[in-house]
Amino acid sequence: MNEIKDFLLQLALITILIFTYHIFFVERSKRNSTEKIIATALSGLSILLCMSFRTNVNSYVSLDIRIVPLLLGTLYIGTRTGLFLSTIIILYRLFLGIDLGFYNTILTILTAMPAFLFFQKIFVKGKKNKRIQIALILSIYYCLTGLTWSAILRGASLKVLQVQIIHLIFIVVVVWFFTSLIENIKEINLKNQQLQSEAERVRVISDLTSVFAHEIRNPMQITRGFLQLLNQPELSDKKKEYIKYSIDEIDRANAIINDLLAFGKPITTENQPIEVASELRHVENIIQTYALSSNVEIKTIYHDDCWIHANPQKLNQSLINILKNAIESMPNGGTIWLTCAPKIDGFIEISVKDQGIGMTKDQIDKLGSPFYSLKESGTGLGMMVSLQIIRNLQGRVQINSEKDVGTEFSIYLPKIS
Ligand code: ADP
Ligand code: MG
Repeated sequence: MNEIKDFLLQLALITILIFTYHIFFVERSKRNSTEKIIATALSGLSILLCMSFRTNVNSYVSLDIRIVPLLLGTLYIGTRTGLFLSTIIILYRLFLGIDLGFYNTILTILTAMPAFLFFQKIFVKGKKNKRIQIALILSIYYCLTGLTWSAILRGASLKVLQVQIIHLIFIVVVVWFFTSLIENIKEINLKNQQLQSEAERVRVISDLTSVFAHEIRNPMQITRGFLQLLNQPELSDKKKEYIKYSIDEIDRANAIINDLLAFGKPITTENQPIEVASELRHVENIIQTYALSSNVEIKTIYHDDCWIHANPQKLNQSLINILKNAIESMPNGGTIWLTCAPKIDGFIEISVKDQGIGMTKDQIDKLGSPFYSLKESGTGLGMMVSLQIIRNLQGRVQINSEKDVGTEFSIYLPKIS
């Protein structure tokens, strides 16, 4: 079992170097040349350490796990690194002395490297599982060629074969472990980067929105003032009505801008007791024209006397987003059921059910992430805003959906009595 002890020592050395790399150099999707050089140097160092601490099976056969840094270096860093690492192996083996082991090393490298270099191209383009498979197949191939050349050069012996099989199993497990580890680290880093850039986009949008909103508000207020001045008693009723419409529309635009500005800020003020059914009737009125234009009918069952504590404008915004999505999920028209009812656990349930295209579990999980949209002209912000509003009201949302059957959004909000 001394061999395993030696392999474990070599494994510990490689692990230290791999972690050093990943801790000090956060991997980016496109690595720069300095990072490549450092990774290559660390792989080279791993190889030298493995070869220095090799295990001697008998007086003329010795084994080590140099294949691990050689394979990972070639696959993850590139073909040039692969060639460089092979040269290091050959030169160091030359330095240790020219014997059968030296020829064995050269022949194994010459047989294995072409396969490594060939598969590197496929490896780079592959997905996580394919990469792990390629690494495993290549590691088995390397061990088998080494084993074959050793048998040809030095003849087979049971003791050597035994150690070689332990060596092969050990290598396969280690390569599987390291490729899975590196792939997971890469995945986590990529997610982190995506989150960072998304957060940055949201920040830029909210900065721009507030500047834009202020710029647009001033001319609107001036226009509103002049419209009020125009509203003289001698005007005809028709004209008075037009002016009233214009002022109402400006007020509506102003309310939208206020909402936009409030976006992202937690709702702390302006909450008031709301009767859900009357609020739903209001929402229904707003969305009705949009529904009719898409051939969608809205059927409602409202339970009266359901009271919650909320900001009516924000609640409307959230419900309108959800209803708008429900309408858009039915390109050929259909029915939406909009209901509200009290639950026994102290919550009010508002349900929006459609007969639309539905979602897979994966799509449901992504719902609410900024900019997640499957629509050509979608913003992917509607759900994010809606879910945040509901969360701020201490509520929760349950989504049941089936592809090509429909989706039900059940919104639970704390009831007040
Ligand atoms: P947008 O509507 O701009 O695409 P949203 O955040 O409102 O952005 O919605 C995100 C995505 O969630 C939509 O693109 C759609 O794919 C999916 N989605 C939301 N609601 C539904 C629904 N009722 N049925 C099917 N898919 C939906
Ligand atoms: Mg939407």
